[in-house]
Amino acid sequence: MTKALNEHPLIEIARGEIAGLPPADWSNVIVATGPLTSAPLADAIRALTDESALAFFDAIAPIVHRESIDMSVAWFQSRYDKVGPGGNGADYINCPMTKEQYDGFVAALIAGEKTEFKEWETNTPYFDGCLPIEVMAERGPETLRHGPMKPVGLTNPHDPATKAYAIVQLRQDNKLGTLYNIVGFQTKLKYGEQQRIFRSIPGLEKAEFARLGGLHRNTFLNSPKLLDGQLRLRAQPRLRFAGQMTGCEGYVESASVGLIAGVYAAADARGQTLESPPGTTALGSLLGHITGGHIETIEPGTRSFQPMNINFGLFPPLATVPTKKPDGTRLRGNEKTVAKKQAMSARALADLDRWIADHLHIAAAA
Ligand SMILES: Cc1cc2nc3c(=O)[nH]c(=O)nc-3n(C[C@H](O)[C@H](O)[C@H](O)COP(=O)(O)OP(=O)(O)OC[C@H]3O[C@@H](n4cnc5c(N)ncnc54)[C@H](O)[C@@H]3O)c2cc1C
Repeated sequence: MTKALNEHPLIEIARGEIAGLPPADWSNVIVATGPLTSAPLADAIRALTDESALAFFDAIAPIVHRESIDMSVAWFQSRYDKVGPGGNGADYINCPMTKEQYDGFVAALIAGEKTEFKEWETNTPYFDGCLPIEVMAERGPETLRHGPMKPVGLTNPHDPATKAYAIVQLRQDNKLGTLYNIVGFQTKLKYGEQQRIFRSIPGLEKAEFARLGGLHRNTFLNSPKLLDGQLRLRAQPRLRFAGQMTGCEGYVESASVGLIAGVYAAADARGQTLESPPGTTALGSLLGHITGGHIETIEPGTRSFQPMNINFGLFPPLATVPTKKPDGTRLRGNEKTVAKKQAMSARALADLDRWIADHLHIAAAA
């Protein structure tokens, strides 16, 4: 790719830092400076938006597929049935713990293997209110019970007479309602440890994780609020963002958002408007999530939009879920999950082909 770019007659490559906003006479700009965007540019972008719009650290709580939560143990309820902004008073999924379960859980958090901060991350302090859950656990056995796991204002309908000793809450993460994040569970535990320890929470024994928790040095925008559907900064539409800065994560995701940003910018340069890829495709669902599909919930000291990899939880549910194999016999156990993912992938490929045929060739031919 580097060779192709270097040799392309219409591409000029200039290597160097853009220390501040791109010059005012650059009209159709893509900013793709990644998780370690240099400070002068980051500060300039921050000044264009507002204080909470650009984060320098992520604080990722694990996200669980809603359908993998055992609702015979867990239940829907907001604390004191309070109706928050955009909520209905039953916006959280609650998982109850006995004292023994809580004590075992706190001990497991403290003993669990953690990842180390990288050298360029060690000087970055935690945000207030975004402490890793294991750090909270280390502060004393009662800390979590008075923090994210407090058991007040909630009644377990499966066993109303028994007061839970601690309660883990999960909050809806996307408008589709397919993903729930574990509130306050940002963590530096290793991935294997997260799965082992979080599956010890009653109701989450069979939890399937769409994203595991983490904390990293990471410069990224509060994109659902700041960017339009075509990745342009609302405050200054000549600037389009791409890559991890937009709140996606990973090589493939960053490259994909870069690709579509390029296609949008090319359409802009031709005075065309390109329809976004369908939400049933990987690119469309990720784009939809970062530019609006995430449910923003503002709580003091926290920021709910956190980086997201592509995952099946971002896709709209299938109209019909497959129940049988091609030979007519019934799907069992894990076969159902595999068949569902295959059906979602087939739908995505067909819809992507249709989008390319209907929209991309028009843009290319014009
Ligand atoms: C240690 C580590 C391991 C990872 N492992 C994986 C993995 O296994 N799989 C995976 O999918 N993802 C992994 N990732 C994530 C992946 O690296 C990123 O998601 C991806 O590289 C982001 O791509 P990007 O193009 O948005 O940003 P980047 O790849 O960071 O590119 C941005 C570029 O912009 C430059 N830049 C910054 N500021 C300025 C400025 N002001 N002017 C000009 N240039 C500027 C930067 O120097 C950089 O070259 C890992 C990340 C890290 C840190």
